[in-house]
Amino acid sequence: MKKALYPGSFDPVTNGHIDIINRASRLVDALEVVIMVNPNKGSSTFSIEERLEMLKLSTQTLSNVTISAQTGLTVDYARKVGATVLIRGIRAVMDYEYELQQATANMVLAPDVDTVFLLTKPEYSFLSSSVVKSIALNHGDLSLFVPKEIEAKILKKYQAQ
Ligand code: ADP
Repeated sequence: MKKALYPGSFDPVTNGHIDIINRASRLVDALEVVIMVNPNKGSSTFSIEERLEMLKLSTQTLSNVTISAQTGLTVDYARKVGATVLIRGIRAVMDYEYELQQATANMVLAPDVDTVFLLTKPEYSFLSSSVVKSIALNHGDLSLFVPKEIEAKILKKYQAQ
């Protein structure tokens, strides 16, 4: 069985992430979307529980996709669960430089785990969790940017602030 991980922050998940999840789920037998708790990335807006719930609601129709949250090195977790592929999305050259560094480090740490890059669909090339948060902060329309199942949850977070 070919198993892949799709690691990220997903703070929150966007339609760009969902597109990558959809396409990656067709390439492998099992895909685990992993919220990696990364102390280097600063504080997150949404708690781990909120991010888990939003990812679960957004992927409930995909039968070979599971969601989890992990700490530590992604490659250590990949080996632990028998995943041989890491999925990452690339939007622009800006992503490539960061992704190249991460994937090369992972290659050195774990030559048995390969990173596979999927290019974003053009309509999502501008989309990031930060863009979604800026729109939500200004109570804008999120319907084109995040799955409909989680739109209200994101807006509610900002109403409370
Ligand atoms: P990280 O903090 O690990 O970069 P993100 O949640 O920001 O986590 O992104 C996870 C992965 O999804 C990264 O590989 C990122 O490049 C990719 N990604 C983010 N937004 C998009 C998008 N709009 N289209 C395609 N890939 C994306």
